Amino acid sequence: MNNAGIMLIISAPSGTGKSTLIRRLSQEFDSFSFSISCTTRAPRPGEQDGREYHFLTEQDFLAKRDQGYFAEWALVHDNFYGTPKQATEDVLQAGRDIIFDIDVQGARQLKKNMGQGCYVFIFPPSPGILEKRLAGRGTDSRETIQRRLKNAKEEIANSSWFDHWIINDNLAIAHDQLRAIYLAEKTRPKYLHTWREKFQTEWRLS
Ligand code: ADP
Ligand code: 5GP
Repeated sequence: MNNAGIMLIISAPSGTGKSTLIRRLSQEFDSFSFSISCTTRAPRPGEQDGREYHFLTEQDFLAKRDQGYFAEWALVHDNFYGTPKQATEDVLQAGRDIIFDIDVQGARQLKKNMGQGCYVFIFPPSPGILEKRLAGRGTDSRETIQRRLKNAKEEIANSSWFDHWIINDNLAIAHDQLRAIYLAEKTRPKYLHTWREKFQTEWRLS
């Protein structure tokens, strides 16, 4: 795809701190759009349809999936999640950057289907701390937390292919690392071709 917007994909076991880190990065840079996924899970207190997610019934989700509406989709903790394809392409074509909070299977599919992006996996500092963060969020039942922990093991087992790993122990350091990855990614010539073209046109370079 020929564009100047970058895709920054963040994956991590639920409770690691993805949303916290993404929120911080989005507050710091206004060049970002957040990829609003569709999901069949129920909204958590404070979540708004069209802001954190598009909340769909399973029937609507499956109909969209069958129409090829998603760039990737996955069944995570017994709920469906998917990234709208057209919305992603529109953002990139407008030259804006887009940040994704998706699971490991979805990230792999996205890489295959879109053929681009910078893929970042975030680790919790330890299994015990992950458990504490999940419980500390206070939004999920005991049973949900157990399911999320089981999933965490699978995600960590499948994290070797990512471009970057961040350990979210000290939040300020993890944020600095994510910020550094984003800023370095933006310097890649493939995103800056229009910049070079200005010189080529003006100076008639080949
Ligand atoms: P995720 O989006 O990965 O599910 P959240 O961003 O909701 O995770 O974070 C889960 C909980 O852990 C939240 O209560 C958040 O405030 C807390 N948290 C996130 N990062 C850190 C950190 N580095 N140190 C301590 N607590 C953290
Ligand atoms: P939560 O229900 O806590 O918001 O998210 C649960 C998991 O679903 C997280 O690991 C999150 O990254 C993942 N997720 C959110 N949106 C998508 C999506 O569009 N596609 C995929 N594959 N996973 C998603």
